[in-house]
Amino acid sequence: MKELFADECGKLKRQGLFRELSNLESRSGTRVSIDGKEFLSFCSNDYLGLAESDALKQAAIQTINEYGFGSGSARLICGNFPAYTRLEKRLAAFKGCRASLVFSTGYMANLGLLTTLAGKGDALILDRLCHASLIDGASLSRATLLRYKHSDIADLNRVLELAKSKYRRLWIVTEGVFSMDGDIAPLPEILEAGDRYGARVILDDAHGLGVLGETGAGTPEFYGISPERLILMGTLSKAVGSLGGYVAGSQALIDYLRNKARSFIYTTALPPAVCAASEAGLKLIEENPDLRNRLWSNIERLKQGFNKIEELTVTDSANSAIIPVIAGEAAAALDFSHRLYERGFLVPAIRPPTVPQGKSRLRFTVSAGHCQADIDSLIKAMQTFSPVSSEHSMFRQNLT
Ligand SMILES: *Cc1c(COP(=O)(O)O)cnc(C)c1O
Repeated sequence: MKELFADECGKLKRQGLFRELSNLESRSGTRVSIDGKEFLSFCSNDYLGLAESDALKQAAIQTINEYGFGSGSARLICGNFPAYTRLEKRLAAFKGCRASLVFSTGYMANLGLLTTLAGKGDALILDRLCHASLIDGASLSRATLLRYKHSDIADLNRVLELAKSKYRRLWIVTEGVFSMDGDIAPLPEILEAGDRYGARVILDDAHGLGVLGETGAGTPEFYGISPERLILMGTLSKAVGSLGGYVAGSQALIDYLRNKARSFIYTTALPPAVCAASEAGLKLIEENPDLRNRLWSNIERLKQGFNKIEELTVTDSANSAIIPVIAGEAAAALDFSHRLYERGFLVPAIRPPTVPQGKSRLRFTVSAGHCQADIDSLIKAMQTFSPVSSEHSMFRQNLT
């Protein structure tokens, strides 16, 4: 047995796909220390810098003092503390929905949602770049899993046409902001295609909440689309700075999920302190548009800086806090990540199976917590790198 795993690990190492954990010793805003060295981080999904805010910390501490830490049981047994109900109310109102349901993580929300809605005889039609949790939820659901080319409406129509007479119900699944590419799905066209074929649209807006839209409510708000036309899910672990997944929609949908979603029923409720922190995070997003303005001015600064580096081709399609630079092979991405690391920047390489073969990349994420000097120092580092690394594919490949 031991040899088997050692062999497998050796294989991953040779392919440049072996994964290791770095040990973060401390964090202060966008600065983290690892092995006694300080790094400027451009890889967190804490887009508004809320994870360390006093409001979240205080909300959690107060709730711990009042209720203790662990919830002690599943929510349907005796784990449903007031922090849950308050959070779900605020979430639903913020998303413009009647009701919402909080799961322990976004991953579990997707498992629960897809396995509850879709079953044998249905087709789940996923964008090719959908997150692993959506693929896993689809696989577990026993519905047929179909894929369409990334954000390609013609291809979506082709799949819908093929599927329309073969399956009981059709579900289209897309992300609002794609997690590894940072581009925004063409949601109006996806909904139009769905309407034409009687397919419902499920939107995973993990990276849209707090980032997109007039009030930060996410991708539907960005497009001015009524949330009633969608089944919405998202996570509290990114811009909200906390932990937990959610589904928002009609009261009937939420009632049904509460009764059927196995990843909701058969697991212990999150500690109430976590929900109190999430609620505080949402409140900050709602009450401080300045946070979002600062984030967007940082995004623009980084994109403009990258665009000025001649050898570096940055896509125009990235339109969020996620700005990927494709390196190609896993080894090239790793190498570039290591060299940024040596200069004090933390930007891990993203490799298969997280992204397709040949599309390994550095995934830069920007936060409202970065200051202009942080952004400028990264741009400067990238500039000094480019001549050295032009032998790597990174500086010659276009993003897709
Ligand atoms: C992060 C992410 C999830 C999972 O959310 P967690 O709360 O981290 O489990 C789901 N979907 C997408 C698109 C994500 O990026």
